[in-house]
Amino acid sequence: MSEFDEKEEYITMAHPSGGKGNTFRTKHSFQQAYTHVGAKGIKFTSTTGEQISATQGIARDGLTKTIVFVGQNSRHGSACAACWGNRVDCNKSRIGQCAEALDKSF
Ligand SMILES: [Zn+2]
Repeated sequence: MSEFDEKEEYITMAHPSGGKGNTFRTKHSFQQAYTHVGAKGIKFTSTTGEQISATQGIARDGLTKTIVFVGQNSRHGSACAACWGNRVDCNKSRIGQCAEALDKSF
């Protein structure tokens, strides 16, 4: 899983505790984005110009569907329905540059 960012928070927090930070206006629902990512995952460019791979995942509760964002050098974080549209995910990872770009990519 994530090997960077506030590790303590990562251990204690998990989806779907809710997103933090600023929100952006989404074109699509989380479920639409999750379906778009599909079982094979997709690649797109983040709003900061980074190549991002998005794949479907499951949060540590074993139930909550997530979209996992992996950049060129690191895993950025993941979005669930609760934090979709937030720039910071339930685990306090910054995903806005990924989630917003994904949302606008289709
Ligand atoms: Zn979440």
